Amino acid sequence: MAKKVIVLGETRDGEIRNVTFEAIAAAKKVADGGEVVGVLFGENASGFANEMIHYGADRVLTSEHSDLKQYTTDAYQQAILQVCDQESPEGIIFGHTSSGKDLAPRLAAKLGSGLVSDAVDIEIEGGTAVFTRPIYSGKAFEKKSIEDGLVFATIRPNNIASLEKDEARSGEVQSIDVDIKDLRTIIKEVVKKTAGGVDLSEAKVIVAGGRGVKSDEGFKPLYELAEVLGGAVGASRGACDAEYCDYALQIGQTGKVVTPDLYIAAGLSGAIQHLAGMSNSKVIVAINKDPEAPIFEVADYGIVGDLFEVIPLLTEEFKKV
Ligand code: FAD
Repeated sequence: MAKKVIVLGETRDGEIRNVTFEAIAAAKKVADGGEVVGVLFGENASGFANEMIHYGADRVLTSEHSDLKQYTTDAYQQAILQVCDQESPEGIIFGHTSSGKDLAPRLAAKLGSGLVSDAVDIEIEGGTAVFTRPIYSGKAFEKKSIEDGLVFATIRPNNIASLEKDEARSGEVQSIDVDIKDLRTIIKEVVKKTAGGVDLSEAKVIVAGGRGVKSDEGFKPLYELAEVLGGAVGASRGACDAEYCDYALQIGQTGKVVTPDLYIAAGLSGAIQHLAGMSNSKVIVAINKDPEAPIFEVADYGIVGDLFEVIPLLTEEFKKV
């Protein structure tokens, strides 16, 4: 049955995040021929709105209210609830990002709705959206659907393919008035811990280092390889605990969950808690000098060797491509 589905778009560092387009593709499936309404808040929201339309949204609601410039739970919750009042959607899709993970359960509770979080696939079965989501740290998958009320879900970045961009697509972009009051949180300053570069959770290529990298200096060859491949650098908790890099890079059960096309794991053993964050990567390449390291059990390609010899060789070879 055709539904009206809302998608909350996200911007970061002056760019619209890819997960926005993936969420639109997911919303299209859930809408099942119905309408997909994009919602975008913050600076230059109206400037980005057309991008949402080019990727499949039918129309977009924007607000550049000063309290929505930076994400805060309070302000975004109030604004989305007003959009829901105005639009009466039958579905809501967010990215499974730090803001999506924060906002979606609160909104679901406020709206008295169910929520499927961290979906990696959607199928329509007998008119019902059936979501696939990983469980037990990615070792198994379960299928879930919401039978009553709003179909509300967050989708894991890099899993649901966005639709082909069509710049000829057009749709209405409407700036809306939102009333935000009694804020309990105000962002005064944003201090960035990682400098620019590719967003780890959306990166198509990740070069991750572990304790075997031995120092912050030891991460340099990993950054060089990541740059040549247009990817991002990640790390094991072992490397973060040893202060070789910032915790913002940590991948795993208590870090970020990533699904790149290519994951290069260098000098990390492959502890179960690390695998929980990366084992669904499409291709895994492990570089470790210990042939018995558990990372080789999940790797598609394994290189037994010293990362300080192997990584510069890979960088040189990829530079030639
Ligand atoms: P190690 O296990 O010490 O492995 C280092 C590897 O480097 C070894 O295999 C060694 O052979 C190899 N090596 C050394 N020198 C070289 C070289 N020159 N060239 C090539 N290879 C080399 N861990 C995470 O990563 N993410 C998490 O989110 C996470 N959450 C956790 C949550 C809990 C509750 C607990 C208890 C633990 C968690 N951990 C997590 C920690 C996890 O159990 C491991 O301790 C950690 O992942 C180990 O990091 P590592 O692989 O870098 O280090």
